[in-house]
Amino acid sequence: MNSKYAIGTVYLVGAGPGDIGLLTNKGLALLKSCDCLVYDRLIQDEMLALAPASCEKVYVGKAASDHAMPQEQINLLLCEKAKHFKTVVRLKGGDPYVFGRGGEEGEVLRAHNVPFEVVPGISSSIGGLAYAGIPITHRHHASSFHVFTGHFKDDSKDHDWSVVAKIEGTLVFLMSIGSIPYITSQLIQFGKKASTPIAVVSNAASSSQQVFESTLEKALDELPIGKIKSPALLVVGEVIHMRETLNWFESKPLFGKKIAVTRATAQSSHFSAMLRAQGASVIELPMISIESLPTLLQQDHLMQSTQIWFTSENGVHEFMKSLWALHLDSRALFKHKILAIGPTTSKCLEQYGIRPDFVPVRYTQEGIIELMETQLSASDHVLIPGAQVMRSLLTDWLAKICSYEKLTVYQTIRPEYSADELSSILKKIETLDYVTFASGSAVQHFHEFLKQYEVSLSADVKFASIGPVTSSTLEELGYPVHLSANPHTLDTLLKVLMADAK
Ligand code: SAH
Repeated sequence: MNSKYAIGTVYLVGAGPGDIGLLTNKGLALLKSCDCLVYDRLIQDEMLALAPASCEKVYVGKAASDHAMPQEQINLLLCEKAKHFKTVVRLKGGDPYVFGRGGEEGEVLRAHNVPFEVVPGISSSIGGLAYAGIPITHRHHASSFHVFTGHFKDDSKDHDWSVVAKIEGTLVFLMSIGSIPYITSQLIQFGKKASTPIAVVSNAASSSQQVFESTLEKALDELPIGKIKSPALLVVGEVIHMRETLNWFESKPLFGKKIAVTRATAQSSHFSAMLRAQGASVIELPMISIESLPTLLQQDHLMQSTQIWFTSENGVHEFMKSLWALHLDSRALFKHKILAIGPTTSKCLEQYGIRPDFVPVRYTQEGIIELMETQLSASDHVLIPGAQVMRSLLTDWLAKICSYEKLTVYQTIRPEYSADELSSILKKIETLDYVTFASGSAVQHFHEFLKQYEVSLSADVKFASIGPVTSSTLEELGYPVHLSANPHTLDTLLKVLMADAK
């Protein structure tokens, strides 16, 4: 192949062991800006979602029915992609050079004169153990560590067990799930103390992490051999005792819980990050997508109105876009009294340099009415930029006091999923522990989604709602409201979930 026409650079990027937060800053920046992404089995969907929508994504891992693309073919694919794309990211689990065959890819790229760089990642052999509460070295227990493959394709490549068994440091075996009986028996046979502790860490650094502990001699009786989910690591050494004290990850309040976030993609990341920080496995299930509408805002609206009420973050963003389209900015609102329905909308206004005059104690239309009863006179004119569909409680009440105008600045629609997104969602949805909703329209769309794809949820799934409007939509559609947040914020929703998971 002639690769002298390569226009791009191939970056061999380590994705870390499981928690998407463990991708390095450099890796993240490349992922967010790449034009082509070549990835394999250990890469989480959430990480793939960080790549631009326009980027070409090529899966080269093993599908259940299928075989992995042969390494030689991957090497050439990378050279080929560099001819068409400026930034090609080859994303690999853990570190690209720790049993990742990154070295071979680098060699072939070099041979074809394709520029490449390596962005190291946190290897599961170290980082995965840390999440299992096992420090790979410890002053009192291990002064070295050794990482082996546990996959012996060719017998002639087997380790020299007489050497391995003598090592005092921590031994970590990757790709070892099928060889646990062999490895443990070899170590005993060649002289390692039979009572040496061992641990198997499955799905390290993810919410489905499982750790099984035993000793070399009892491994076959005590470990669920054959049932351990891959990927998994086998660890041998005294450091495993430290798990009792250092197991920080599995004690997080939402550890092991699968929680769906149904907010619009653009808004979900913050809440998803809050949930992940508490140990949850987050399934992004965007049920709304915000669609801007052609701007209706006129100079007259600004001249006439005395107050502007924002009932959602989206209302703020879309109104500001309209203002911008009129060649204006927030200074045009200097004479208006501004209301935000709650703290999130208020924070959003602050981004535009606007400090709202009013924020009700209850973050609902009812709360606005309570607060504004004493603040309005017949000469006021209230402008309410918001979604097409909105409850009429507020406007019915306003109509009795002063004039108002509802300005429809956006609509919420049900997002279309690509075939890949859909299959990934359908795979995960049946085992959810919680589904969270932050709006009635998300509930409505979720209901339609379940019907369309004939999805059945787990019988134990719990529905968590941000507030009364969302809750009543759930009830109207026949879903029980197990948890609801009061005050109606995402912070409270998180607290409620944490309390329930206890
Ligand atoms: N480059 C990777 C290793 C690739 S080999 C790294 O540095 O981590 C694949 C093996 O890595 C798996 O068979 C398993 O033994 C281990 N592995 C990778 N991610 C893991 C995880 N999240 N939990 C447990 N083991 C993992």
